[in-house]
Amino acid sequence: MASLRALRPVMQITAQSLRHLPRTSLPSAFLFSQQRFASSKHPKGFVPPTPEDLEELRQSVQEFARREVTEEISAAADKNNDFPAGLWPKLGEAGFLGITADEDVGGLGMGYQAHCIVMEELSRASGSVALSYAAHSQLCVNQLQLHGTPEQKKKFMPGLIAGESIGALAMSESGAGSDVVSMRTTAKEATVDGREGYVLNGSKMWITNGPNADVVVVYAKTKPDAGSKGITAFIVETKTSPGFTCARKLDKMGMRGSPTGELMFDNVFVPRDRVLGTLHGGARVLMSGLDLERLVLSAGPLGLMQAALDITLPFVHQRKQFGTPVGHFQLVQGRLADMYTKMRASRAYTYATAREVDETGEIHTQDCAGAILYAAERATECALDSIQLLGGMGYVEEMPASRILRDAKLYEIGAGTSEVRRMVIGRVFNKEYAHLA
Ligand SMILES: Cc1cc2nc3c(=O)[nH]c(=O)nc-3n(C[C@H](O)[C@H](O)[C@H](O)COP(=O)(O)OP(=O)(O)OC[C@H]3O[C@@H](n4cnc5c(N)ncnc54)[C@H](O)[C@@H]3O)c2cc1C
Repeated sequence: MASLRALRPVMQITAQSLRHLPRTSLPSAFLFSQQRFASSKHPKGFVPPTPEDLEELRQSVQEFARREVTEEISAAADKNNDFPAGLWPKLGEAGFLGITADEDVGGLGMGYQAHCIVMEELSRASGSVALSYAAHSQLCVNQLQLHGTPEQKKKFMPGLIAGESIGALAMSESGAGSDVVSMRTTAKEATVDGREGYVLNGSKMWITNGPNADVVVVYAKTKPDAGSKGITAFIVETKTSPGFTCARKLDKMGMRGSPTGELMFDNVFVPRDRVLGTLHGGARVLMSGLDLERLVLSAGPLGLMQAALDITLPFVHQRKQFGTPVGHFQLVQGRLADMYTKMRASRAYTYATAREVDETGEIHTQDCAGAILYAAERATECALDSIQLLGGMGYVEEMPASRILRDAKLYEIGAGTSEVRRMVIGRVFNKEYAHLA
């Protein structure tokens, strides 16, 4: 496979050279992107990828998945409750871990449509590999990209992007999930061995990559009585921070190849220069991160729906009952048509939202929440339909249908539940129409 790092300059040259053509000869989508590509959510000088760039990327990820995330590897990850050994550096080498990051720290600077494509195609191969991938590349790497100082980026991003270190983000606590602002982990100012910084105490629950992570973005209360105005984000290096432990690795119904942990912070010292964003400004880091997290994660259910179709369509055309392929029965056709249209509609919503972010720099909270709300619920439905259409083979672990269902269900819970997403969308309308109340 041609390295994406090598391809990216070519993609940019192609885009730049197109600018010299008469405007009427350019496709309208390209003109749109050329008018407004400056954005605080992208690396400096970001050029939105062309459809050809994106197609090339999709083919690279498919090729990678065929080689490195085979069905045997995905099934074993599910059974063993562990991430496939040796995959992080391979993801790094392929260029997938820094899709949205600055090129000078090893990223590809390709934006959110590209990130959705990698997420979708990895999810098609393995839901859990893709979930861990997104926790690393979006929740950790992209938060560093958006809020890190030049020094923080230089220190942490090259290793994360190469897959030499593993990233995570720790926000949720056992008592603070949907109401994350009620978190109880504290960070108190302290000077330890002559170094100024903060001492973290508390615990975090359900943290993807938590058991293996080297670098964790942790949210803690620096002003416990100030609600959302008293939260700060910190970069914690787990291996060199005494007092940090992963208390346990959680045993889950699905996403089993993605390690999830409960993290403990017992007087963990974090130097001042590891504050991510501004002091007490963690809620901004958190909320802006959540929009993009929901957008990129919405591509997970897309891949799972495609995976459900990948196994169901050949099966129903081979399997005969009453002397006829079952796929020729109208009741079966109806279910297949529903699966296909749900997948296509979800995909259109995700990529329309991602394209808007890439081409205008504008993020619409209601669409980031809407894209994942819609795709997640449809993916669970598609996985259930797949099981039904496979009959007895859908119910045994010899085929991946049950794994797809168990993996898909996570997307109705993680990154804010379906109920919270509906609430987020409702709140946008409430704000917009407040003048009528
Ligand atoms: C596999 C997995 C991976 C995860 N990875 C991470 C991670 O990497 N980092 C991280 O920080 N967190 C992570 N999480 C945590 C996840 O974000 C939370 O589980 C999620 O936000 C829900 O919180 P909760 O579990 O406390 O549920 P609760 O908030 O207790 O909700 C319980 C139920 O009440 C409903 N509910 C709550 N409030 C309302 C309301 N106002 N109106 C209507 N209904 C409501 C919910 O929708 C849900 O149905 C992960 C979770 C899982 C399962």
